[in-house]
Formats: sequence, structure tokens, C-alpha cells
Amino acid sequence: MINIPDTSGGTSVIRLTPARCNIWAVTRNNRTIVVDTGISFDRSRIEHALERRGLVPEAVILTHTHFDHAGNAAWLQAEYGAEVVVQEAESHFLAGGDTPIPEGTYTVTRGLVSIGRKIGPAFRYDPCRADHVFADRFDLNRFGINGYIIHTPGHSPGGATAVIDDEIAIAGDSIIGTTPGKPFPPFADDVEILIGSWKKIIDTGCVTFLPGHGKPVSREEIISEYNKRK
Ligand SMILES: [Zn+2]
Repeated sequence: MINIPDTSGGTSVIRLTPARCNIWAVTRNNRTIVVDTGISFDRSRIEHALERRGLVPEAVILTHTHFDHAGNAAWLQAEYGAEVVVQEAESHFLAGGDTPIPEGTYTVTRGLVSIGRKIGPAFRYDPCRADHVFADRFDLNRFGINGYIIHTPGHSPGGATAVIDDEIAIAGDSIIGTTPGKPFPPFADDVEILIGSWKKIIDTGCVTFLPGHGKPVSREEIISEYNKRK
């Protein structure tokens, strides 16, 4: 169970349900957006979790289009009328149901990536036409959420981070929370670019950083890792 305190602006962020990636529901005054979507296998769990809490997502924000994050975007769009938002460098991957395969940042993960490229078809998902495509920044107030999305590439070309009430950053796979003290992701297209995106994420001033996998990471952990790598 991951427990995240509400922001001082009264926005709640919960991990909706255990799934192939962290799926976050962001709610304020009965208006809800969902960040990331898991894989098709997670679908019924997502449906139950939304129903149990009486949430109807108005929007789906994709932190990137890897299959484990984008797998239910098309379904949420069709089922709830949620508007799908993606950064422009990956809208064509989403439209084709394709995963941009990243480079490994450690020796072990480099080997995994070469295997991944061979089994590429397993990384496909239901294609989805985005309702909103943005370049640098996208405002979330239109969905009743005090926040915005910024472009944070590096793990993948169209990486995006949602910033809620200037307190919580939902960073997708730009940050990983599966191993305490090791928040730098094991897979990235471009490590240099990712480190630049970490600077952007730190500059939001947020205190809590929610990764695509694993547990929340503190500002102290992020800054100490950034200082080692910059
Ligand atoms: Zn990813």
C-alpha cells in the first residue's frame, strides 16, 4: 500500500491498483485524471478500482508510450471518454500501438534490450489516437487539476512528468522506485538528456516524486543521485 498525503491545495494522488506499472489517479473536487495505464491484463482491476471509488477519469496522461504504460489508453478513452494526452515525440508510437525500445544504462540491462528488440511484437498494445499532443508544457487546469505536464525526455524521446500543486511530480520511468537509494532508471534512450530532465524535475520544487515502478522517492534522494551524476 502506498500512502501519499494530499497536497496543501487539496488534491489527492493515489496508486489506483497494483498493475504492470504504477497507475495514478489524481482527484480534486470530484474531478479525476489518470496518469499511465498498465497493460491490457490490468484492465478489469482498473475498472473495479475506478468503480469502487466512484471515479470517472476525464483525462489520461501518458508519461511515455512503453507498452506497460500505454496499454489501456485506448480503452480508457473509449470506455470513459477520457481525453488522452501525450508528448509529441511519441504520438506516432501511440497511434501505432508501438513501443520505442530504450537503450540499457547498465551492462545487464543492455543485454535485455537486445533481447527486447527481437521480441518487439510482444511490446505492442491497442493503438490510440491522442486528443492532445504537446511540445514543452501542457496545463492540467482544463481538467480541474492544479498542475501541468512538462517534457522530460531521456528514458524515451517523449517522456513527460506531471506536476501536481507544485508538490508532487509524477515522473513515469524518468525515476524508478524499486530499489531504495537507486532512483536512476536502468533503461534510457539517452542518459545525458535524462540527467538534463532530472534538473527540470528538481526545478519544479516538488517534494514527492512518484516513479513508474516501485515506491515514492524523496527530494533528498533525487538531489543526492543528481549530484552524483550531473
Ligand atoms: Zn518505460
